[in-house]
Amino acid sequence: MPEKFIFKPSDLATLKDNYDLVVIGSGGAGLTSAIQARELGLHPVILEKMDKIGGNTTRASSGMNAAETTVQLDHQIVDSFQDFYQETYNGGGKLNNVELLKYFTEHGALAIDWLAQHGIKLDDLTITGGMKVMRTHRPSSLAPIGGFLVSELLKQADRLNIPVFTGVKVIKLEADDDQITGIQAVANQHEINIKTSAVILASGGFGASAELLKKYRPDLAKYKTTNQPGATGDGIALAEKIGAKLVDMDQVQIHPTVQQDTDHAYLIGEAVRGEGAILVNRDGKRFVNELDTRKKVSGAIDDLDGTGAWLIFDQGIRDRVKAVEFYDHIGLVKTGASVAALAESTGLNADNLKQTVEKWNGFVEKHNDSEFGRATGMDRNIVKGPFFSIHIAPAVHYTMGGVGVNKETQVLKDDGTTIKGLFAAGEVVGGLHGNNRIGGNSIAEIVVFGRQAGQQAFKYLKQTD
Ligand code: ADP
Repeated sequence: MPEKFIFKPSDLATLKDNYDLVVIGSGGAGLTSAIQARELGLHPVILEKMDKIGGNTTRASSGMNAAETTVQLDHQIVDSFQDFYQETYNGGGKLNNVELLKYFTEHGALAIDWLAQHGIKLDDLTITGGMKVMRTHRPSSLAPIGGFLVSELLKQADRLNIPVFTGVKVIKLEADDDQITGIQAVANQHEINIKTSAVILASGGFGASAELLKKYRPDLAKYKTTNQPGATGDGIALAEKIGAKLVDMDQVQIHPTVQQDTDHAYLIGEAVRGEGAILVNRDGKRFVNELDTRKKVSGAIDDLDGTGAWLIFDQGIRDRVKAVEFYDHIGLVKTGASVAALAESTGLNADNLKQTVEKWNGFVEKHNDSEFGRATGMDRNIVKGPFFSIHIAPAVHYTMGGVGVNKETQVLKDDGTTIKGLFAAGEVVGGLHGNNRIGGNSIAEIVVFGRQAGQQAFKYLKQTD
């Protein structure tokens, strides 16, 4: 086993009062943009308010979507930017910002290559809800993408000597005549002022802010959240204060498969269904195309009158999704030597569950789900014991709304002009996903637009030199 890499955040005593570029947030978008900017010759600093690095990115499990990649060709999958665009657009209720979507779908393959050039290889593929082909790239170890990506990006940040400060919360963006001049932050109750001409907002969404959810989506108050506690939409408020326009703030994604029988809500990655799991109701019967969009699957589970639903899968599927080892380790998985035994341990009707699984295996064999029209995630049946179930229900997962940007990641004002020197990437941005984010598109977004933000910040600073 290679030695586990442990990244050491910078000592607060070394924080300077002047940087060419300040990156707010240490999730995937912040790390990618800082690495890109550093490789172009800038000297960025990353400020992270939490003690822990990585934000919600560390919790992502499925993978990174991209089309027309060499990895896909290695798997004999011929894909197109156009199909990726169209499927994301359909999945987003055709409400996606098309300028962002076009850039996004046409730059995913480059982003996969860029990662590979940095030793971050995503050469296995899976599929997520709403996509018609395997375009969700993941490491061949099948490790959950988020933790893998953050730790690999941190190795690069370390190699490039990019300072990352934790426990530093940015509380204000300073601007003069719509041009960034600095930021204000707090660390250990001390106020810090940093001069800078460029800021990249990579501060994530607001899925953990009861206050903002109440403001924009009071109907979601009953849901738990899968988000880390720091996902409170700070960047959105900071940008709004200096005139940024906000878009789609009421578009909040509910993720269909979240284990929440304890105090904590654990997201059960879409790859479990992508690799073949089915969902059943309390009667042990299927009730939905499990790989329809998150919006549709969540709606179908909510219609079950509060019972939640159960993911059912076998050892063959478990072998394809390493995250299941973690779910099992923390006690979220029920096991049975046979389907009937699984029904027993789960509290489901054994005859019905057996029938459901047999019927499903027949659909897999013919590659035709005549009951709910599922057409993906049918590469393997449910026959190899032991068998497993996880009880799930929907929870708040992702905020599609946020700061308005153009494809150069420049933050926009209501009148369409930009705030000079202010860039944004990742979940803090609104518009790309329309009314429903497709699984695998958030990791793709942070790499594609994180790179873009680093590049555009460099270009901006060169011009104003
Ligand atoms: P993305 O996926 O867009 O990169 P993440 O949720 O992974 O977003 O990361 C965003 C990070 O930004 C989180 O680690 C979060 O704690 C951090 N953050 C949020 N608000 C602030 C703030 N005001 N100052 C510094 N860091 C912040």
